[in-house]
Amino acid sequence: MISNPIPWPNGAKCAACLTFDMDADSLIHLEHPEDGYKRVSGLSMLRYGPTIAVPRIVDTYKQLGIRQTFYVPAWCIETYPHAIEAMLSGGNEVGHHGYLHENPVSKTKDEEAYWLDRGIDTIVKATGKRPRGWRAPLYNFSNHSIDLLVERGFTYDASLMGHDIPYMIESRSGKGRLVELPSHWGLDDWPQYVHTMDLNYLMPLRAPHAGLQAFIEEFEASYKYGGLWVPVLHPFATGRLARWDAMAQFLEKVLTRGDVWFAPMEDIAAHVNSLVKAGTWTPMRDTIPQYAEPVRVGGPA
Ligand SMILES: [Zn+2]
Repeated sequence: MISNPIPWPNGAKCAACLTFDMDADSLIHLEHPEDGYKRVSGLSMLRYGPTIAVPRIVDTYKQLGIRQTFYVPAWCIETYPHAIEAMLSGGNEVGHHGYLHENPVSKTKDEEAYWLDRGIDTIVKATGKRPRGWRAPLYNFSNHSIDLLVERGFTYDASLMGHDIPYMIESRSGKGRLVELPSHWGLDDWPQYVHTMDLNYLMPLRAPHAGLQAFIEEFEASYKYGGLWVPVLHPFATGRLARWDAMAQFLEKVLTRGDVWFAPMEDIAAHVNSLVKAGTWTPMRDTIPQYAEPVRVGGPA
């Protein structure tokens, strides 16, 4: 099913990383710059993420003996320092996720570079390290993103959806390459669990175990075929009590199998680079951006 399977460390059947994007209330201020601050109930729903869910999630990871990855907009790092301290206390990775969750596709190259650099500065101040990985806010990886990331020494990206296992993305300009650790909307918790009029995103909410079922089926296919399982989760959504209880029970069961490699995304990217360097595995390569100019098809109007 996977034509060029990647060897995982110690013969593991698959690699797994729960990635939590701690967007908190950046979303509401971005969507409603004039009156977001007045939307008290919506704010309380989103602030639940850093205040209640993140400490809970970090505690579960500690009990299970795993370290994972959080992507955090820099404004949220500045606004919720205790959540970042909790993440770091468990040895988890803090990756770059924009400044106020702005959309890079709608920015010029210089504007995108400005927010990227401002975010890097914030992460260095908060964690003592430059970020190794980036996830574009709302998967909005632009046609400039790869060059900007390569120039700043990033190792990997986690925004694209082009494979079931890691691959390499090569800059069309020849600037360099990054490891791509892909996911997809089937592994995102918004379609399962998010219902918010403030953000104009209204889904029929699934019961905790029904929502989790989508993630379980994705996991079992990764386990069977040697894939990479990267759920894209949000503390305010999957971190709610009953949903996280269901997920924690699932993780506990999976860990007893003993042959699943749970690791932060930076470790998975480092593993890919070490295989490539040693010549023991050759990943798929994809040129990014895929097109240098608009695709226009001529014909009768
Ligand atoms: Zn986000």
